[in-house]
Amino acid sequence: MKLIQLEKPIFLIFIVIIFFSCKESEQKPGICLSFDDNYLEQWVGILPLLDKYDAKATFFLTGVGKLSEQEKAWLKEIQEAGHEIGAHGELHVPANSYIQSNGYRSYWQEEIQANVDALRAIDIRPKVFAYPYGEKNRIMDIALRITFQVSRSVVPLGEGYEEKALKKRPGFHYYSISIDESELPQVEKLKPLMERAKAEKKVLFIHAHTIGEQGAYTLSAQRLETVLAMGKDMGLDFRSIQNL
Ligand SMILES: [Zn+2]
Repeated sequence: MKLIQLEKPIFLIFIVIIFFSCKESEQKPGICLSFDDNYLEQWVGILPLLDKYDAKATFFLTGVGKLSEQEKAWLKEIQEAGHEIGAHGELHVPANSYIQSNGYRSYWQEEIQANVDALRAIDIRPKVFAYPYGEKNRIMDIALRITFQVSRSVVPLGEGYEEKALKKRPGFHYYSISIDESELPQVEKLKPLMERAKAEKKVLFIHAHTIGEQGAYTLSAQRLETVLAMGKDMGLDFRSIQNL
């Protein structure tokens, strides 16, 4: 009888701990915005715009070993502004066809390790990786867990694919929708996805490449501001992927 009486408060403490730990791990809805490749001059130009919306983004870098001193300085400026620097493959090759021709070992050494080493040489330790061309490889995705917290590929908007770009934690692989003008002619199409992210407490993954007025892999600063304002109006914060 005495034992049962002693157990009761312990049981209640347990319930309280579980309640608060559940509350803490509840996903805060948000947006993970990333930029791919190495358009450093253009990216450094949007830092004030990101800052205006208190937005943090992830910049996935390729060809780091070939960056000029000026580009490396811009990269540091981006990092010092609180944004995340991720790995995007040193060679920027499509994973599956490269692996088919050259093997997994070569892909790991030339694409992944060389990229990580080049970033480490300038004191950047990437925790996230984005596949070039969004071409995911299942086996490599297992190996990537040794070095990274997250891998990212891409998914087209439409036909229900966008379901994949809305995700709850925890996870290793995430899919992202391009917001480049050529890929997403109507930026308003992001609105229902943002609404769902908010309602379902999920994180929406979107990405772009360079900043400009025309051309493939381009989005204008004006369109970027539209996206940032849309997210902010909905109360969604833009966060780096490692802070997912
Ligand atoms: Zn790329």
